[in-house]
Amino acid sequence: MADVQGYAPLFEPIRLGPVTAKNRFYQVPHCTGLGHVRPRAEAALRGMKAEGGWGVVSTQETEIHPTSDLAPFAEGRLWDARDIPALRLMTDAVHDHGALAAVQLVHNGRHATNLLSRAPVLAPSDMAISACQPKQGRALDKADIRALRRWHREAALRAKDAGFDIIYVYAGHGMTLAQQFMLPHLNGRSDEYGGSLENRVRLTLELLEDTRDAVGDTCAVAFRFGIDEMLGPDGMQAAEEGRGVVELLADLPDIWDVNVSDWANDSATTRFQPQDGYQNDYLSYVKQVTDKPVVGVGRLTSPDMMLSMLRKGIVDLIGAARPSIADPFIPRKIEEGRIDEIRECIGCNICAASDGLGIPIRCTQNPTIGEEWRRGWHPERIAAQGQATQTLVVGSGPAGLECAMQLARRGYEVTLAEGAMDFGGRVLRESRLPGLAAWGRVADYRLNDLRQRANVQMFAESTLDADQVIELGIEHVFLATGTAWRADGVGRNTRRSPPLTDPSAFVYTPDDIMAGSEPEGRVVVYDDDHIYLAGVIAEKLVQLGCEVVFVTPESTVSSFSAYTLEQHRIQARLIELGVDIRCNQTLGRIAPDCVTTACLYSGRVSRVECAATVLVTERQRNTTLFEQLQGKGLITLELVGDAAAPGLIADAVFDGHRAARDFERPKDAAEQDWFRREITDLREEAP
Ligand code: ADP
Ligand code: SF4
Repeated sequence: MADVQGYAPLFEPIRLGPVTAKNRFYQVPHCTGLGHVRPRAEAALRGMKAEGGWGVVSTQETEIHPTSDLAPFAEGRLWDARDIPALRLMTDAVHDHGALAAVQLVHNGRHATNLLSRAPVLAPSDMAISACQPKQGRALDKADIRALRRWHREAALRAKDAGFDIIYVYAGHGMTLAQQFMLPHLNGRSDEYGGSLENRVRLTLELLEDTRDAVGDTCAVAFRFGIDEMLGPDGMQAAEEGRGVVELLADLPDIWDVNVSDWANDSATTRFQPQDGYQNDYLSYVKQVTDKPVVGVGRLTSPDMMLSMLRKGIVDLIGAARPSIADPFIPRKIEEGRIDEIRECIGCNICAASDGLGIPIRCTQNPTIGEEWRRGWHPERIAAQGQATQTLVVGSGPAGLECAMQLARRGYEVTLAEGAMDFGGRVLRESRLPGLAAWGRVADYRLNDLRQRANVQMFAESTLDADQVIELGIEHVFLATGTAWRADGVGRNTRRSPPLTDPSAFVYTPDDIMAGSEPEGRVVVYDDDHIYLAGVIAEKLVQLGCEVVFVTPESTVSSFSAYTLEQHRIQARLIELGVDIRCNQTLGRIAPDCVTTACLYSGRVSRVECAATVLVTERQRNTTLFEQLQGKGLITLELVGDAAAPGLIADAVFDGHRAARDFERPKDAAEQDWFRREITDLREEAP
């Protein structure tokens, strides 16, 4: 057990304007893909954070008016009084556990697309909107600014009615009108809202004063501010104008919630920002300028780092979005001395990808996030075992480990067999590639749990065949046997005409490279997978001294990684490493000394000299054992994870979790009741 007393400062209450937070754990606003579209699910997710011990639990950005319409994305909405009941579900759920509820009001300005409302987009000056849409924003005139202030004020009053304790003015992530007014490259106004910093900050100052005036008697006013755009002299810098803003507004808000802008910088992935607490340098002086409490973020999962940030006077409250998604129970675990039970965020941004995809939030580490209401899943609790006693899980990748851990938590005897020398499957293999070390946390957390359980037996170097499974005499078998990367080049774009491969050519798969194969000389990496792996393998090959040509049918490198907010960084890194990137090309022939590629559009063929090729195209499911065990009298025989349906690590963890939960659930319930849905109420609305 950890020294719980040592962490006492994290549990000291703190006054925030007219309200008091019970401790220093502050779940800053983050999107969930639930919002106004799925309010019960939203309330249950936020309520779970409060149950897990967070002293403050916030919404995501919450639109104040139809001119700030983020459809089709499901953020918060408080356009008028009819939106109050949905948000009251959330404040009630949060208050039930003694936490404060915060709402991040927003007018998104040129970040909104207004595709649903068809309202004109509003911006500091006339300009194209930030999304790639055929629209321009128009400059707010004085009447618009007066209206905007009224909308914000009225939304604050509605938020108070909905039960919120903390109400935000938001100027961050490049996503809000208040911040857009502050930035010289977006604000070309010549009136009192443009020009000097003081003028550019005027709108924010007015919004803060209005909010305080409207609700400040009972609610704290928080200010979320992107202090540095991380563009050097081309953008706002923390030490220059960023500091100027803090000085101008110093004690006006009750809480300073400070981060770096844009979202990709704020939610940096471990691949590009391995150090937790990476924002400290940017926000460390804020407390010297203001007497008001400061909350900061930076993938803060370690209680020691949290404590040192308080002790050094960097922040007063520990802010978290992703760490609270990966483990909603961090505060309770620290308080109870269960620090080794914290499920650490791996910084993969699959959570952020959910937002961009317009779907409910998913997390690699926490398969229950977003499932609290619709599936009734609790991150720390699971139903006790049913009739069966013995279970066998084959394969210890993310699916097998999660399945085994949850079966063990339910009380079953679990035997876990792994063919390789070490447990961890694909997360172990991938975590050895450049920039992916944090992937290992997926295995570490689960192995740490499994190793402490008396009802679990784990066997490495134990490749099981059907006879060995039957000999074990265990009648409930879960096969998390994973996948193998194809070596024939078949993939999304080469299905009709796979590359013709000369048998004497050197062809590798990602499995070969991860197992230690080292091609030499000039190597073509062919990416028809488009997620992250091919880009990482290209980096690995450069480290090995290869000259790398990256060929992909997509128009960018690792195109899916735009959703995880790192595509531009991946492409920039490969360019910096001297990788020769050839987009819009499919693979035609693989010869010993070259490959041919064809332009996706014109069909024009090119020849690329190379000594070897790495094919990152598709995976094949390992189902041999499953097929051999058919008809052998097992009561349960289930493929789990990638072996059932190849996908992200998050999907494998989810499926392992689901399999353990569904085990011995009455069959028709598991089949008919996938999950509860929030269905539009068709009762006629009063005009
Ligand atoms: P997932 O992502 O679904 O968890 P992985 O590919 O990460 O899948 O892991 C599958 C694991 O299963 C690998 O570590 C592999 O060594 C192991 N495995 C596959 N077949 C067998 C088998 N017959 N016996 C034991 N282990 C196996
Ligand atoms: Fe962290 Fe990845 Fe989960 Fe997001 S999806 S909270 S980055 S582990």
